[in-house]
Amino acid sequence: MASEIQYAGPTISPATAGKVEDCAICGNLSFEVFADLGRYRVLSCPSCSTHLRDPTIVDPVDDRIGDYEARQGLFEKQTADRILSAVDEIQPVRGDCLDVGCATGSFLRQAETRGWRCHGTDISAIAVAKARVAVPSGTFEAGSFSKNTFSA
Ligand SMILES: [Zn+2]
Repeated sequence: MASEIQYAGPTISPATAGKVEDCAICGNLSFEVFADLGRYRVLSCPSCSTHLRDPTIVDPVDDRIGDYEARQGLFEKQTADRILSAVDEIQPVRGDCLDVGCATGSFLRQAETRGWRCHGTDISAIAVAKARVAVPSGTFEAGSFSKNTFSA
């Protein structure tokens, strides 16, 4: 059906798909097309480099969306666990963990479960606000460093 939007799975109706209007991380209102896959595009935010699917899926009660979010959450957890296991081999003693570019705190949420004291920084104040909710015991700062702050 011409009015339906397809993705790599079941057909979704236009009522469950929405146009990307702003960056979920930094709120930027314009995007560059990273890839046009026909059924949908992958947009890149020139401000924070986040990639977004367009059209996005906006119906929170759709079971398929729940599946997607569950898979995405599992992927983030597994990735964080792999990184933290590698860190265990070189730093088995728990202490303070800093995530530069912490986004919404998914990595630090896993670090916290392993006993790390968590700290994060991100250029996006919106992302940092979400990270503070995800890791209430953590400390977070939003903002960017001025040019030439670091040499390495
Ligand atoms: Zn952005």
